[in-house]
Amino acid sequence: MSEINSRVIKTLSQVIDPELRRPITELGMVGEIAETSSGISVAIKLTVSHCPAAEQIETNVSKVLIAEFGDVVTVQMQVMTADELNELKAQLRGSLEPKSNPFTAGTSTRIFLFGSGKGGVGKSTVTANVAVALASQGYEVGLIDADIFGFSIPGQLGLTAKPTRLDDMILPPVIHGVKVISIGMFLPSNEPVAWRGPMLHKAIEQFLTDVYWGSLDFLLIDMPPGTGDVAISVGQLLPTAKSIVITTPQMSAAIVAERSGSAGLKTGQEIFGVVENSSYLLDAVGKKLEIYGSGGGLEVARSLSERTGTAIPLLAQIPISPALSAASDAGMPLVLSNTTDPASQAISALAVAIAKDKLPMTSRTLNVKLS
Ligand code: ADP
Repeated sequence: MSEINSRVIKTLSQVIDPELRRPITELGMVGEIAETSSGISVAIKLTVSHCPAAEQIETNVSKVLIAEFGDVVTVQMQVMTADELNELKAQLRGSLEPKSNPFTAGTSTRIFLFGSGKGGVGKSTVTANVAVALASQGYEVGLIDADIFGFSIPGQLGLTAKPTRLDDMILPPVIHGVKVISIGMFLPSNEPVAWRGPMLHKAIEQFLTDVYWGSLDFLLIDMPPGTGDVAISVGQLLPTAKSIVITTPQMSAAIVAERSGSAGLKTGQEIFGVVENSSYLLDAVGKKLEIYGSGGGLEVARSLSERTGTAIPLLAQIPISPALSAASDAGMPLVLSNTTDPASQAISALAVAIAKDKLPMTSRTLNVKLS
């Protein structure tokens, strides 16, 4: 290889494909490199002609090449041939058979299902913020929005990009470092759907088998609210998944939430813990106002502990925060935009507990109330 060629390759190794999250030089995306009378010409091969990241890749390629060689470089954007694309797909799959689920027993990805007894308790808000908090701690994170009653995850993260299809392989869009797939991305109108369990089971199965997740540290799933079959079927597809039950402090909500946690027990799924959301409002002098009652989270943890015979911890109590709600509406998660807000801090601490996959002894003791 000529000296110029190796300098171009070395320079381009700084450019990361935004969807595949690997250097373009490792993905067969660098084509012909030629020295011409007027400078250097470099061909870049996109996976598909309508690649949503094309502009970003071209900008980044030009930037690093100009920084290295000056204004003598021309970049030609091309598209991979069918053979080149097949080679790339085989490389991405690695040792996995096509259409196989990489998250069966033995996976090194830690998988968490976020469930709740009913809608509107803040399950999606917590899931989206935990995903982003984990990614900001440097983890590779995937997030599946399986909440058929309201696909709020893309909106909460400010995600408008659609997945890219490489024939039968789906590349999830990445936002704030999180790979996201939502059922809403595959429906023409993005409307909530009245699906029955088996259809959702099939959709989630396809998300596991057809989506290129790469090697993930964490896979989080925003589950539809309720107690039903879905948790059980997802438990079968993801045998190592652990559930996190989200509730509010009201006792009536707690009873429903407890049933949602116990649904997964039928498949032997482990319950990682309980999160109480909208626990209290802090007044101007920092006093906690428990405007929705109190005790729901502890009650769910106590009841699930009794049923399972193991101590299920109350992982977090997240305060009511108008900023949390406003940030979600604006598509910019609060854990990134405001790190001092008490709700943001409670969710970040929850992400740390999840990342450790074990809890400090104090929070494992159920009679200790978390502040
Ligand atoms: P679910 O996924 O359980 O249906 P969402 O996450 O969509 O619930 O939240 C429902 C509404 O409550 C949203 O408007 C969200 O912004 C708001 N919300 C959730 N948690 C809080 C909180 N701790 N403080 C204030 N608003 C919240």
